[in-house]
Formats: sequence, C-alpha cells, structure tokens
Amino acid sequence: MSDSIDLAAPQAPTIGFVSLGCPKALTDSELILTQLSAEGYRTAKTFAGADLVIVNTCGFIDDAVKESLDTIGEALAENGRVIVTGCLGAKAGEDGGNLVKQVHPKVLAVTGPHATQEVMDAVHTHVPKPHDPFVDLVPATFDSKIGIKLTPKHYAYLKISEGCNHRCTFCIIPSMRGDLVSRPVGDVLSEARALFDAGVKELLVVSQDTSAYGVDVKYRTGFFDGRPVKTRMVELCEQLAVLADPYGAWVRLHYVYPYPHVDELMPLMAHGRVLPYLDVPFQHSHPDVLKRMKRPASGERNLERIAAWRRACPELVLRSTFIAGFPGETEEEFEHLLQFMHEAGIDRAGCFAYSPVKGAAANELPEAVPDAVREQRRARFMQVAEGVSAARLKRRVGATLQVLVDHAPMLGRKGGTGRSYADAPEIDGTVRLLPPAKASTQIRVGEFVRARVVAAQGHDLIAEAL
Ligand code: SF4
Repeated sequence: MSDSIDLAAPQAPTIGFVSLGCPKALTDSELILTQLSAEGYRTAKTFAGADLVIVNTCGFIDDAVKESLDTIGEALAENGRVIVTGCLGAKAGEDGGNLVKQVHPKVLAVTGPHATQEVMDAVHTHVPKPHDPFVDLVPATFDSKIGIKLTPKHYAYLKISEGCNHRCTFCIIPSMRGDLVSRPVGDVLSEARALFDAGVKELLVVSQDTSAYGVDVKYRTGFFDGRPVKTRMVELCEQLAVLADPYGAWVRLHYVYPYPHVDELMPLMAHGRVLPYLDVPFQHSHPDVLKRMKRPASGERNLERIAAWRRACPELVLRSTFIAGFPGETEEEFEHLLQFMHEAGIDRAGCFAYSPVKGAAANELPEAVPDAVREQRRARFMQVAEGVSAARLKRRVGATLQVLVDHAPMLGRKGGTGRSYADAPEIDGTVRLLPPAKASTQIRVGEFVRARVVAAQGHDLIAEAL
C-alpha cells in the first residue's frame, strides 16, 4: 500500500513513501507521515520525483520479505536515496548482520518497527527540515490527536499496544517488535474520541495480543477526562463503546486470545455496544500442536468457551487463522482441526500451509511435514472452512442488517458495496448492494444503510438497501 499526501508549501522537499504489511505497520506509517507533514515535508507521487524514499517493510513470512526487498530494490533503482523502516529492518541476515543492509548495501539508513523518531533523524540527516516547526507547525487540515490516516475517512485502526510477551515458536515478531508495551489508556481513548469526531464510523482495535492489554503495567489505573480507567481490555472496550455511541459508530476487536476474561466482553457485544465480532487467531485446535506452537491460552477449552460465548451472544461472528502442516502434525491431529472447524462453526477462516520463517524456534522442531502434505492439508482445511462459512452465511438471507458503505458511485444509483458487522475491511467478505428500488434512496460512502439480504454468494452477501 502506498499513499501520497500534499499538505505543505510548494518548495518543500518531497519524500516518497511506501507502506507494506499489516495494520500495525500501517499505524507506524501513519505516525511517520504525520510527523513528516507536521515538519513541512511533502510526500511525492513517484519514487523518481522525490528527494528521498521511505519504505516501511514487513518481515513476517518469506513472501512478505521478498516483496519488501523487491520494493527497496525498485526504490533504489528509481531514486537511489532510500531509508528502510519496519519489521524487516529488525531482521538479521545469514551472516548475523542486518538483512536489509546485506541485500541492499546502498540504503541510507535502516530502523526496526515503531521507530518514528529514528526515521525522522535519518530523514533530517539526508534532507534537512524545510522550516522551523516552532514557527510554522501544523497544516490547517491536520488534527494533532489523530495525525494522518492511510485508511478511508470512515474507518481507522487504533493501535493499543506494541510488541508481544508470547513466544510462539513459528513467529519472530517479538524479536522484531520487542515485549508488550501498552499505550496509556488515556492516550488511546483521546485518540479514539478524536477519530470519531473526525468522522470515523468504524474503529478497528489492533495490537499483537489485544486481550493482553495492560499486562505489562499490571492493569494500572490511568485517567481519561479526569476519570479513572483501568488499563485493561474490558474496561477499554466499555469506554470505547461510550465514545462511539453518540456517533452510532462501530468498535471492532482484532487479535483477541481466548482467555477467561474475554467472556466479560459478551454482554457488551450482546447489547451491540461493541460489534459481536471476534478475530481470534487460534492457529490450531489440537492441544499437542498448540503446545509445540507455544500458543497463548493453549490450555483453554476452546470449544466450550466458544459455545458459552455464543450462548451469551448468539450473533457473535468468529474470524480466525490456522496453520496446516506444522512440524510433527500427525494426520490424527490434523483431523482434530477439521472436526474443530465443524464444531466451532468459525464464520471466517484463513489457513496457511506451514512455512518456516528464518530465525523462528519451530525450525528446530523434529518431524517436518513434507511440503506436498502441508499444501494438501491446507486445501482440505479450506474446503471444510468454506463449507462451514457458506452455511453460516446462508442463515443471514432474509435478515435486515446495518451496512457501512465503502463504495457507491453516483450516490449508489448503480448499487455499491459495504460491510456488515460480520465483515472487517480487507480480510472478510462484503455486502453487495443492489441498485435501490426507489429513486429517492441514496447510498453514500462512509454512511450506514439498512439493507435486506436477498442472497449469499461465496464470501459475500447480496442485499437491497431499504
Ligand atoms: S502472540 Fe505469538 S504469533 Fe502473535 S505476535 Fe506474539 S509471538 Fe507472534
């Protein structure tokens, strides 16, 4: 993903910016772009036209590493002056040195993720600040609490913490992003309020482990508007629901692990104060595989927990991701996973065939599953997952849902697309809106419409706006 923003004076130096990777990386990009803009830099539309290029990279899986290295290569070829930041910047190469510097020795500077100040220091070294920030600070369109957003105006990611205390054996994120550091609850809530004030209709709460929010500060009591609020997921969600309410806005939670305290969210979800949607990256169901993966909450009885959640909140939609063919996975363990999919009724599931990530502890585990078997299992899993998902989606036909509109040319005269509470942007399905029957019905991007579902198709619903 890349973006181009033009907020500064015409003579201001220009910085090309490319943002790759997950929503957490996107929020890092937003912080850097905000700072660049506050200091008077402009962002350029092309690498070639810029005084310097910043590439925010992803280093999670091998494909992402390749994409990031290729993008850096392109930026070097077209511009020559490149600063690299993000997860790949924290990764070691084969000789133990920095991977990016090893592959692309001509880059000007490399930082890890979540390093706005280091990136800005590198920018200042190579392209001096265009003006005195104390005299000519902030462009008129800029809100200091929320900064620049790379998402459409009507939804935004809210990052509540950085890093992770777990040590899942397939993952190198803790070595790149460090241990959990929760943002102060007052700062998080101030940002949320500023986003709602600015027109955000859907707030997507992200982190590496949202359920662990506040563990690092022992759930310290912080303050928001002079009131005490615990630095803890449930209390944070209660306050976000209060802030969202006057705007009728949505609060959606990502990366929640099935810990007992997640049960406390169900009343909030059942009353629609937080969307009844949980993104829980289970990765597997078999206790032995989960142990080998060293997954958080691996000792929990997930099927029982899901059943209890659904009793408390029947509308709950679950999204998850899984890994097929993890080292040592037996056919029996894999079938346990298929059975889990049926019984848990996961609404939306993604699955990766296990692929070793350089530097991950799982690479040392014995009994690697052959590549072809991993791929077959992934395909078998997806067949089951798609069947479960389609059956659950069909149950919505005939229902009336609130839909947040993402796309609607000509005020929706030719229809449009949006999402219901069951669909997070970019990862889930959509609701395809038919051209309205009444000429007076308008469908506007960034607004909610009520729509009656007439059919389900693949991952999507088809609906008519009321
Ligand atoms: S919970 Fe596990 S997979 Fe997620 S970031 Fe932490 S170590 Fe990685």
